[in-house]
Amino acid sequence: MFNFLQRYRRDRFLASQPIPDAIWDRILALPLFIGLTLAEQAGLRQHAAWFLHEKTITLIDGLELSDEQRVLLAAQAVLPILHLGFDAYDDWHEVIVYPGHFRARDRYTDHFGLVHEREQILAGQARPGGAVLLSWADAEASAWLDGWNVVIHEFAHKLDQRNGAANGDPPLHKGMSADAWKRAFSNAYNHLVWLAERNEYSPIDLYAAENPAECFAVFSEYFFETPHAIADHYPAVYEQLRQFYKQDPLQRLPRVRYRPAYEPVSYGPVYVPYQDMWV
Ligand SMILES: [Zn+2]
Repeated sequence: MFNFLQRYRRDRFLASQPIPDAIWDRILALPLFIGLTLAEQAGLRQHAAWFLHEKTITLIDGLELSDEQRVLLAAQAVLPILHLGFDAYDDWHEVIVYPGHFRARDRYTDHFGLVHEREQILAGQARPGGAVLLSWADAEASAWLDGWNVVIHEFAHKLDQRNGAANGDPPLHKGMSADAWKRAFSNAYNHLVWLAERNEYSPIDLYAAENPAECFAVFSEYFFETPHAIADHYPAVYEQLRQFYKQDPLQRLPRVRYRPAYEPVSYGPVYVPYQDMWV
């Protein structure tokens, strides 16, 4: 519960403009933040400052991040909650950043209730009830409009986990229809699974066909980077995400030539140089 005193402390902290102008101007110049209104730019700066103040950023294996790199991380992390408020990330505390891909060992329970251990090489992971793990090499390369953003992906999982395990069914806002959400996402998911099974062309990275949780996280990446890719092919999903994030990136971002995944790939669309991206 956020009481008056806490809010007072937060307002006083934010009034001090903790992120220097020179750093903030360079962050705002990145493609990911194109088209934000002045009010949204100011809101993003406040959210990013509060994020860096509130969350513990733990750096692994000798990684060092400059102030600007920390702001780059925070600005991407808070873009999804720009219109959801500071409290949308209040149920966890730590971001653990590795220099690059990292090895993660997990226990998981299969359909038969058997517990297994597995080791994976990952670019990011959102631990249920716990930290967000990120590869800095991937986080730093994420703020481009190519439909691939490991930071947004993992923080979408965090929003999904607010009502339990990540399952593509996050808590919806008042006035949203749970039926419309389920219908939009299950239709898109089933279609992507169908494409994946047939090795077919897909406008969306087929990692979305892994399971409903990944489907929501991958669509969230596209929503904030290449919204036309969703609006063109899965308009019902776009509409649900527009209501969920309370943002409409279709209105602010240019249509970029999004690169379709011609074959099922597990790492996202291939990076497209910025100057070639405009249609
Ligand atoms: Zn994921």
